[in-house]
Amino acid sequence: SLPIVAIIGRPNVGKSTLVNRLAEEQSAIVHDQPGVTRDRTYKPAYWRDRDFTVVDTGGLVFNDDTEFLPLIRQQAMAALAEASVAIFVVDGRTGPTPADEEIAEWLRQQKVPVLLAVNKCESPEQGLIQAAEFWELGLGEPFAISAIHGSGTGDLLDVVINYL
Ligand code: GDP
Ligand code: MG
Repeated sequence: SLPIVAIIGRPNVGKSTLVNRLAEEQSAIVHDQPGVTRDRTYKPAYWRDRDFTVVDTGGLVFNDDTEFLPLIRQQAMAALAEASVAIFVVDGRTGPTPADEEIAEWLRQQKVPVLLAVNKCESPEQGLIQAAEFWELGLGEPFAISAIHGSGTGDLLDVVINYL
């Protein structure tokens, strides 16, 4: 089976948009599973001749970011268990939130390599400033991306495929 790239993050940061971006021009095979995995969707993707599967862990909708952290973490945990690498998506417009920090703290304890994608960075100059705020999460270099525009995702994928 293909290596798995797990997309993790609190609601509304752009996980599903990123998954669709990474899986663009692929047949959109969406695979829903019952039980604890029901909110994960799997899509085929490739980059530079490397085939992999992207998992969107965010099917749940929340009113409050922080209230449902255990559920987000449970989803992330299930996805991470089978992943070769994880992309932790955060929102460059809001800066780091308490929920981001809690997820980051948990991710730092996992064995799976984690890449930090600072989404919604449409402006190149401002994006660098927005991304730099996320060094404090302790997950290494933040990648400024825009899932909507597709900017920055190539640089991110160049690193992702090193872990497949
Ligand atoms: P998820 O809950 O993490 O899966 O987030 P979604 O992919 O559903 O996106 C949440 C909201 O953020 C939607 O309104 C998207 O249109 C918006 N969004 C996603 N990616 C970007 C981006 O790169 N730039 C901007 N400005 N908005 C984005
Ligand atoms: Mg989503």
